[in-house]
Amino acid sequence: MNPERCDVLVVGGGPAGSSCAWKLVQAGLDVLVLDKQVFPRDKVCAGWVTPPVTDALRLDLEDYQRERVLQPISGFRTGLIDGPPVETGYGRTVSYGIRRCEFDHYLLQHSQARVEPGEPLQSIERVAGGWRVNRRIETSLLIGAGGHFCPVARYLGASFGSTERVVAAQEVEFEMTASQRRACRAEAERPELYFCRDLKGYGWVFRKGDYLNIGLGREDNHKLAERVEDFLAFLRRQQRIPDDIPARFKGHAYLLQGHGDRKRLDDGVLLVGDAAGLACPQSGEGIRPAVESGLLAAAAVIAANGEFSAARLAPYCQHLAERFGATRPSRPGAFAQGMRSRLGGKLLGNAWFTRHVVLDRWFLHSKQPPLHV
Ligand SMILES: Cc1cc2nc3c(=O)[nH]c(=O)nc-3n(C[C@H](O)[C@H](O)[C@H](O)COP(=O)(O)OP(=O)(O)OC[C@H]3O[C@@H](n4cnc5c(N)ncnc54)[C@H](O)[C@@H]3O)c2cc1C
Repeated sequence: MNPERCDVLVVGGGPAGSSCAWKLVQAGLDVLVLDKQVFPRDKVCAGWVTPPVTDALRLDLEDYQRERVLQPISGFRTGLIDGPPVETGYGRTVSYGIRRCEFDHYLLQHSQARVEPGEPLQSIERVAGGWRVNRRIETSLLIGAGGHFCPVARYLGASFGSTERVVAAQEVEFEMTASQRRACRAEAERPELYFCRDLKGYGWVFRKGDYLNIGLGREDNHKLAERVEDFLAFLRRQQRIPDDIPARFKGHAYLLQGHGDRKRLDDGVLLVGDAAGLACPQSGEGIRPAVESGLLAAAAVIAANGEFSAARLAPYCQHLAERFGATRPSRPGAFAQGMRSRLGGKLLGNAWFTRHVVLDRWFLHSKQPPLHV
């Protein structure tokens, strides 16, 4: 049987893979996206998206929201778990809420790449001029976009978990019944973020149209299920959520920028998105870094003009560092951690600090210029 050929094989059709594919297809390359799942597929995620994502991909939001949930967000309710809340309003849309099953499917279609759904990556061999994948697909360039446990990242030496400091998170998303909608005091335009007292993570309540997403993520996963239960008890005491939410939470882990040291490229191969460990260290936002790294990788590939040596692809890593900051792992000492908890706890009750530092700087990156690729 003759092998199937493509210029670029993207492993993973999430936001990173589809953004990269979109840019490469625009440049005239023949791109094949391989994903182990059939779309539309779900992904454990709160579904909060910042405007740089929709801008960078030039998404037609009118078209998007015709048949999908697109929840405008114009404020936040924040605080410590068990502390008093701070309300921050912007009077304009500063973010959106989406459902990943809809969003990721839309991005994949928007990419106009060829898609091979329902096929996991099972084997990678180097052959003359590139790669043979799954013993049947030949390509000059391989892009690893398979999320945190991406098999291409493993091929490049990633050691999933053993030396990496991951964020572990659990969440539930469900469509509310009429009585749940009445009982839910969380407002759709104003997601709620409640930080753990040690500031190692936060929980959220995110209402998107008729859907409710509740979850909690932390830098350490010790007793995570118990912490989720405590968080839910707090929300119920405050009457923020209905009493009868589904019991089954789903979990996932991922890497924050600077919390791991994955090799991100080699001859004929690049990693993007969660596979490269790029989520924002303060907020855990991973969709924007996934999209932006996908676009930066595509730009490096196009500039390499068919010669995909590690040296020719190296500008990709420089552009990642310019956009997302230091890539070296850093770990706060015990003293720094203690100070962070004591000071941070007080500051999170302060309206000025919440708006200008927590929300504008850490969550919305409002001072960061748009990405021009
Ligand atoms: C609980 C939770 C809440 C989150 N909330 C937010 C949020 O609100 N906003 C935000 O910006 N970020 C959030 N994140 C982070 C965000 O979900 C990720 O950073 C983002 O999905 C990364 O996109 P990606 O394209 O790199 O990977 P993914 O979205 O994980 O996509 C990877 C794709 O690769 C495919 N794949 C995997 N293995 C293989 C294989 N072997 N062969 C073929 N295909 C494969 C998968 O099926 C999948 O389609 C959250 C994460 C968690 C865990």
